[in-house]
Amino acid sequence: MNDYLAIQPKLGSHKIQGRYVTHTLIESFVKLFSSITIGTSVESRPIQMIEMGTGPINILIWSQMHGNESTATKALLDVLCYLEQNPSLLASFTLKLIPILNPDGAAAYTRVNANEIDLNRDAINQSQPESKLLVDLYHEFKPHYCFNLHDQRTLFGVNDTPCMLSFLSPAADVSKKRTVAREKAMGVIGYIQNALQEHIPNQVGRYDDTFNPNCMGDFFTQQGTPTLLFEAGQVGQDYGRIETRKWYGFSILKALECVSHKLYMPTIYQEIPEVAKSFVDVLIKNLNVGQTTTDIALQYAEVLKNGEIHFVPIIHKMGELAGLNGHKTIDVSGENMRFSKEITVGSSAVWLSDLLNLTQYSH
Ligand SMILES: [Zn+2]
Repeated sequence: MNDYLAIQPKLGSHKIQGRYVTHTLIESFVKLFSSITIGTSVESRPIQMIEMGTGPINILIWSQMHGNESTATKALLDVLCYLEQNPSLLASFTLKLIPILNPDGAAAYTRVNANEIDLNRDAINQSQPESKLLVDLYHEFKPHYCFNLHDQRTLFGVNDTPCMLSFLSPAADVSKKRTVAREKAMGVIGYIQNALQEHIPNQVGRYDDTFNPNCMGDFFTQQGTPTLLFEAGQVGQDYGRIETRKWYGFSILKALECVSHKLYMPTIYQEIPEVAKSFVDVLIKNLNVGQTTTDIALQYAEVLKNGEIHFVPIIHKMGELAGLNGHKTIDVSGENMRFSKEITVGSSAVWLSDLLNLTQYSH
């Protein structure tokens, strides 16, 4: 699989681009594979599953249980294309993959489903058709591993480096003890990290492992299934997360390689630094406002408009923001700017963004 990085931009899945990824967008692509509809969402959208391979190791993979987290879905489709071209890599596996578990949230570009429930906090209750469907499939398929695919917000960094990818082997109980399942998931993540460090050093983080039995990953780990949480992050101005998508797919393939050959590296997992909320989208330093000087942090709200996601700047924090990093940082010390508007946290910062000639992203 060493050729994946070179081949990835040429895969058929690359026609699927942008942050707004819906069932409608991927439907015709999914039909190219062996796929079935396994249920419907609250708003009656089909939930599709792709099956691949007939090997002895069962792996259940789902993406976009949070509707507005689409990087993993695109990476997963890349991986599917790649595996189709390299069927020998599938010899060990039977894969069941749900590209979009929350198609209503994907259509509305929301984290939650149409009943405004976070499906990743519904593992115990299974109050929603989408979460029930996932848990039913889990019981029926009896996977040896689960891959739980997500995107994280731009706030996360690894110390002072932006976080491209982060991972977690969730806890199986409040004591966070290293159960057999956890140990295996840690071993797989350690193997991925070992490979990634050659390419994107210091850009991989580890999520907080506080036990929450309502999260699907914790729930499945508790049942004894090694479960890997993958999170796509933000680096620099890559708001399309195009680079992240590449390394995300690479990580999924590395996970398969590890499982297939039992190359677990749990010690390396322990060495992965924890992610921290150490970043904002834009950090404006030393802004003169009247008689005082302040730093201002902007965060982009992701707004769906005409089938595209627009990144709208909002005042996130202000004051002396030492220790915070920006994906973009502008030092305006010495520039005596005058504002007709009052600057308040939570308000729109489009005017400020215009004043500073910041790029207006849409993907
Ligand atoms: Zn998520």
